[in-house]
Amino acid sequence: MHFGVLGSGIIGLTTALELQKEFPTARVSVIADRFNEDTVSYVAAGIFRPGTSFMGPTQEITQQWMTDAFNYWDELRRSKEAPLAGVCQLSGYIYSRTSPSIVRNHFIEKLLPVYRKATEEELKLCHGGWKYGSFFTTCLTESRLFLPYATKKFLENGGEVLRQHLNSFFDVPQNFDALLNCTGMGAKELCGDQHLVPIRGQVLKVRAPWVKTAFYGDYDTYVLPGFETVTLGGCRQFDSYNTKWCKYDSMAIRERCFDLLPSLRKAEIVRECVGLRPHRSVVRVESELITSPEGRRLKVVHNYGHGGYGVTTAPGTAKYAVRLVRDLLAGNSKL
Ligand SMILES: Cc1cc2nc3c(=O)[nH]c(=O)nc-3n(C[C@H](O)[C@H](O)[C@H](O)COP(=O)(O)OP(=O)(O)OC[C@H]3O[C@@H](n4cnc5c(N)ncnc54)[C@H](O)[C@@H]3O)c2cc1C
Repeated sequence: MHFGVLGSGIIGLTTALELQKEFPTARVSVIADRFNEDTVSYVAAGIFRPGTSFMGPTQEITQQWMTDAFNYWDELRRSKEAPLAGVCQLSGYIYSRTSPSIVRNHFIEKLLPVYRKATEEELKLCHGGWKYGSFFTTCLTESRLFLPYATKKFLENGGEVLRQHLNSFFDVPQNFDALLNCTGMGAKELCGDQHLVPIRGQVLKVRAPWVKTAFYGDYDTYVLPGFETVTLGGCRQFDSYNTKWCKYDSMAIRERCFDLLPSLRKAEIVRECVGLRPHRSVVRVESELITSPEGRRLKVVHNYGHGGYGVTTAPGTAKYAVRLVRDLLAGNSKL
């Protein structure tokens, strides 16, 4: 068996590792035109916290993705590999002045070790006159560490990595038994998928080692401590393709985060980054048989459209996608 994984972001790499686990004798090649710091995955703060609107094909499958993903990150966090993989535990608060529903999350309230209502005292831990709040304990995966860690593991398992831009699935350099399409926003062109929309995000990475707790406020305000830096965010600009840093977004983010935690005014800015979240209202993890005009046929399993929650859900959708590969090869697929 020879599988091709298109994409080297968090979705491509977790899928490639899952393929190696499930098909230990198969050859697996990752093909991508961008790696590590050039991917959207690198920009992410990496907290395991899905948005409540995140949607797979059914509610049951979506919840299974969450459970499988959390178990993967939590197991890695408990292992000796955790510091190399960039996975740690993180606790924090989500606050709102607007609505109690904003601080609830049906996907993770039962999944996380701790998810509870914040007390009156806890609502006062941050400036802002917060009315509603929850406290939770979750995982955080720092892509800056995880992407090279996963690539190394993939290569050690016998995988190969090729740098190539694909204009079509039929540009792939070899004959693969199946292709896994983990191209994030790239799938818009490759699949002609009009349902895939960028949601632009911008964050600051600052040095503030005194901040050990995560905080979310209203209007996309978040402070998320990682391994070396604290991520300050953010914004969500629907259908914006602007990958350039914007000083007005930066000012707005700083103001909102400084209001929340005034000590952040003293933090040194390490870098500012922009990323286009690949948003699809139903995340696409499904198989497809594609035929070229010359009659060449390809078996493809898509795995893209994770929006702002790709780090959260990557190992869950990877597991599901690899199950679809098995069905496709066994002829069990509905195609
Ligand atoms: C500011 C910000 C903060 C975020 N914070 C979080 C968070 O805290 N938690 C969370 O869960 N998620 C977060 N996200 C979302 C997360 O980053 C994305 O969901 C995730 O990175 C998507 O991963 P991906 O592998 O699909 O895409 P990418 O990382 O973009 O990777 C796509 C890959 O496909 C390749 N590719 C694409 N097209 C082609 C082509 N035609 N030919 C060859 N190769 C191609 C690229 O080279 C690349 O290797 C955040 C995103 C942003 C922007």
